[in-house]
Amino acid sequence: MKKLIIVGAGVSGLSAGVYAARNGFDVTIFEKHIIPGGLSTSWKRKGYLFEGGMHWLTGSSEKLFLNKVWREVGALKENNPVFYRDPFYVLKSGGKELCLYRDVDRLEEELLRYAPEDKRAIRRLCDDIRLFKGVHMIVDDIPFLKTKNPVHPGIFELLRMAIVIFRLPFLVQQSYIDYLSKFKNKDIRHLLATVIGTRYNALSFVYTLASFASGDCGYPAGGSLRLTRNMADTFENLGGKIEYRREVSKIVVEGGKASGVVVNDEFVPSDAVIVTEDMRKAVETLFDVQLNRRWLSVLRRHVITEQNMFVCLGVKADLRKYPRGIVFPLEKTLCAGGLEFNELRINNYAEYENHSPEGCTSVTCLLLGNSYAYWKQVKEDGTYKQKKQQLADDVISELEKHMPEIKDAVEVIDVATPLTYERYCNTYEGSWMTVWRPGGRAINAPIKSLSVKNLYFAGQRTIMPGGLPIAVVSGRKAVQYLCRDNNVMFRSAE
Ligand SMILES: Cc1cc2nc3c(=O)[nH]c(=O)nc-3n(C[C@H](O)[C@H](O)[C@H](O)COP(=O)(O)OP(=O)(O)OC[C@H]3O[C@@H](n4cnc5c(N)ncnc54)[C@H](O)[C@@H]3O)c2cc1C
Repeated sequence: MKKLIIVGAGVSGLSAGVYAARNGFDVTIFEKHIIPGGLSTSWKRKGYLFEGGMHWLTGSSEKLFLNKVWREVGALKENNPVFYRDPFYVLKSGGKELCLYRDVDRLEEELLRYAPEDKRAIRRLCDDIRLFKGVHMIVDDIPFLKTKNPVHPGIFELLRMAIVIFRLPFLVQQSYIDYLSKFKNKDIRHLLATVIGTRYNALSFVYTLASFASGDCGYPAGGSLRLTRNMADTFENLGGKIEYRREVSKIVVEGGKASGVVVNDEFVPSDAVIVTEDMRKAVETLFDVQLNRRWLSVLRRHVITEQNMFVCLGVKADLRKYPRGIVFPLEKTLCAGGLEFNELRINNYAEYENHSPEGCTSVTCLLLGNSYAYWKQVKEDGTYKQKKQQLADDVISELEKHMPEIKDAVEVIDVATPLTYERYCNTYEGSWMTVWRPGGRAINAPIKSLSVKNLYFAGQRTIMPGGLPIAVVSGRKAVQYLCRDNNVMFRSAE
């Protein structure tokens, strides 16, 4: 049995672990944290569970091949049936409601009802959603792989790609914000601006809504914790080992080959290493040897990080009467983390099982944008805690205007900043996705190292823009390279 070390027990590390163990490798995962999951995580505070990662799972639909991958790695089981919240968001503005429905016909009807003056922009959006509805992430095998379960993208999948090819370049070039600027109605702009981070191109936005419309992107019960715990159990049942609180400080390269890792000053030998620490960070910190220069320069130039501030509130009130996803337009711009926000997007977990004590509700607010430098600065000047409290206070006082039950009922406050993600997961600038900018290149970094043998990468940055589907698929691909290099017939399932 060849010995494999995987750095990190996030979704990509666990995916690689399951496939490698299933293919006969002796696998150890070193994880710096005390639980599996990495960025895909939730945490408990005084009886409240805060979902801190997954908001939707691409590949939750059983119609997609990606769903098979989630099942192969044991992420989706009987214990986490998928739930599709619909409407996904409801904008509440001065007694009026505007729903972001998943179904494109229903969405079109709703937007036209709300803002007939925007007929042209609404039709264009809904036509784009219809066009991209059939396009899904293609999962394929690496070239020249020996496998018992070959995967070939179907002719229909390729045809669907061909259909969108004429619209694609335009949407890649256009910014998300420019696309939204065609709507005259402010509320529609507020609602649609909350789908993803505003620095992306229009394609990323349309593609996300199209995935919703196709019946994908649900939320598995139990959220991030159950999903990743399922994967960890699958891995351990296959004989894999996870060593927690073990941070890898170096990948040892001898004679052009990865020969092991250094953990807590101890050298642990192995025949191969898969690195799932954020690639943008790992290439700068884990190696003494020079990696492929061209790729280093591509990574350094093209990785623009998506980050967020995350405000979690434990509220001593039952907020069941409010929708599960709410957008509140703000009368006055909210300044937080050096950024400006014109709306708040709220997740209300009142109806989710085991998320809060009886009669109480856990509420989260995600504020996307590049705030890393701001938080780094306030950390240095000693006002970090104070600024976090200020952010929570500002969010609470805005929420009180729309949800009066919150007044004097917030009993738990927890704020995460990019520094939190950096500390817990070693991610570059505390980030969890790569922004695909208007006109920017979609970069796919090499999963098999170009300059060091027996070294592979998976997870963030390997395929743009990242997220859970990329994590699980890149872990699978890394093991396919490992199998090909070791002349092992790749098996994806039992
Ligand atoms: C607030 C938020 C919301 C999100 N919502 C969604 C969503 O709705 N849908 C979606 O698809 N994606 C979402 N994501 C993104 C998704 O969670 C991540 O893209 C994905 O989990 C990344 O997985 P990964 O395995 O590549 O990386 P990570 O999760 O970063 O895993 C890397 C692991 O390696 C460990 N590690 C790092 N360095 C070392 C080291 N040197 N030694 C030992 N261990 C190490 C880390 O502790 C971590 O556990 C969200 C993320 C956040 C933060």
